[in-house]
Amino acid sequence: LVRLDAIHKSFGHHEVIKGVDLRLHAGEVVAIIGPSGSGKSTLLRCVNLLEPPTEGRVTVAGVTYEAGKPCPRKDLARLRRAVGMVFQSFNLFPHLTVLRNICLAQERTLGRSRDEAEAIAMQLLRRVGLADKAHQYPARCSGGQQQRIAIARALALGPQVMLFDEPTSALDPELGLEVLAVMRELAEGGMTMIVVTHEMHFAESVSNRVMIMADGVVVEEGPSASVMRNPQTERGQRFLHAVK
Ligand code: ATP
Ligand code: MG
Repeated sequence: LVRLDAIHKSFGHHEVIKGVDLRLHAGEVVAIIGPSGSGKSTLLRCVNLLEPPTEGRVTVAGVTYEAGKPCPRKDLARLRRAVGMVFQSFNLFPHLTVLRNICLAQERTLGRSRDEAEAIAMQLLRRVGLADKAHQYPARCSGGQQQRIAIARALALGPQVMLFDEPTSALDPELGLEVLAVMRELAEGGMTMIVVTHEMHFAESVSNRVMIMADGVVVEEGPSASVMRNPQTERGQRFLHAVK
């Protein structure tokens, strides 16, 4: 469902991603961990072409983007629509109610009617446990609730893959747990997910695979339990020793 081939990304002369491959089948969950500045966020942003890679190839849901070659706008739109993203900061619109926040993109990008969008939004709010907040403004919701609303908003567009960039790192641990519980349910429901996280327990218990990045390359990758408990590379061992 997702395939990255030899991805490189430079900002000016600074090469941040130095040749990364990734293959993700439908229903798989991969966690990306690694030290600050190792390129985790940049790699994630390459998947939906928020940062187009400077070299390599991105394939999502049957659409391929090749660095340096023109990509038809229609294909680009199709690729982006297949990918939902949740950031560390939730970026909800403060002047819109929770319900309208979840409906806006559905109406604008998918052309759904207001009634249809609201029905889908309510269904997703129930799923993340926040149906009672539909008519509140985001400022009246806790950080954990706002992040669950951001997840509902991304899901409302029917993505085939969900990307998460440290979705709990701006939250108090207790509120982070609510968000992790929603993500766990999503994973158990079969959603394909790429999760950049510093939650080692989540990486070990929810994801199928773990990738450890350092200095723009993948230094270790494998089934979660074995990477987390028994890393094989010196660099992987050093990172896990530092954070555990
Ligand atoms: P963290 O754990 O702190 O979030 P990260 O692994 O997500 O780190 P990235 O945010 O991907 O790391 O950044 C990797 C490197 O790329 C850093 O050196 C950063 O300064 C650089 N970088 C990221 N985005 C840009 C940009 N838009 N322009 C220039 N440099 C950038
Ligand atoms: Mg980051």
